[in-house]
Formats: sequence, structure tokens, C-alpha cells
Amino acid sequence: MNAAAILKLKGNGVVTTTKDKSLLDIAKLLAEHGIGCIVIVRDDDKVAGIMSERDLMRAIGQAGPEVLEEPVSDFMTKTVVTAREADTIDRLMWEMTTHRFRHMPVVERDRLIGLVSIGDVVKMRIAEVEMEAAATRMYTAG
Ligand code: AMP
Repeated sequence: MNAAAILKLKGNGVVTTTKDKSLLDIAKLLAEHGIGCIVIVRDDDKVAGIMSERDLMRAIGQAGPEVLEEPVSDFMTKTVVTAREADTIDRLMWEMTTHRFRHMPVVERDRLIGLVSIGDVVKMRIAEVEMEAAATRMYTAG
């Protein structure tokens, strides 16, 4: 199974915003949508960065609540590791555990087409293991 299978199940919707928004705007978006990360896009819709709740907490912890007025462009991660639709679940797990992040935007031909989280990946891996176990049971039962 791959990233395309995850997006087929969960859909292609991604919450995005632009780099001029303040950290307070980002906090509101995270709360409103009940999510842990926002993809920051440029005017042409290409990925410009990613801002997670962890980045937000670090900014507030280091600079105090006044930082909430500052633009997200100063705090987002600008070098974003993205996935392709064909990337396998194992590949996504490897990227996330190696780089220690929990989200990967899925990009095809420079277009953002979805986002996978570590939760999506683990859920899919468990379904895969359960299917394999059921197939083995059927095989051994003859
Ligand atoms: P997360 O675990 O997703 O909350 O993110 C932990 C840290 O990694 C934060 O600094 C994020 O900005 C950063 N991050 C999250 N996802 C990615 C990604 N796909 N590529 C690069 N950095 C990321």
C-alpha cells in the first residue's frame, strides 16, 4: 500500500495558509480544524513551508506570547520533505521516524494533493498486518 491508498481513504483536503499570516492566525486555524500542522503555500499554490503545533509552542516558549503577532514565515520549517503518491507505507514510516516529524505533504507535479500524518500511516500499516494475518489463517485452514 502507498500514499495514494491513504489519500483515497481520507481524502485530498489539506488546510493551507500563506506566509504573511500571524502565529495567532495559525493557532486559530489549528484549533478550528482540530489538526496539528498547517502547510504554508505560495501565491502559485506551491509548498513554501510547514508549521506544526510543535513550532508554535517552541516560538511561544522562547519569545513569550507577544510572538503571536509575528508572521509565520519567520518560524515555519522552509525545507519541507514531501511524499509522492507512489511512496510505500514503509517508505513514509522511514522518512517520519528518521526525520522525527509526523506530517508529510503529498506533492505531484509541484501540486499539493494531500497530507499524510503518522496516525494515517500507522492505521494503514495495522490494516495491512490484519489482512496478512487473515490471509495466513485462511491458507493454513486449507
Ligand atoms: P511534527 O512532528 O509534524 O509536529 O513536526 C516536528 C518538526 O518537524 C516541526 O519543526 C515541523 O515544522 C517539522 N516538520 C513537520 N513535517 C515536516 C516535513 N514534512 N518536512 C520537513 N519538516 C517537517
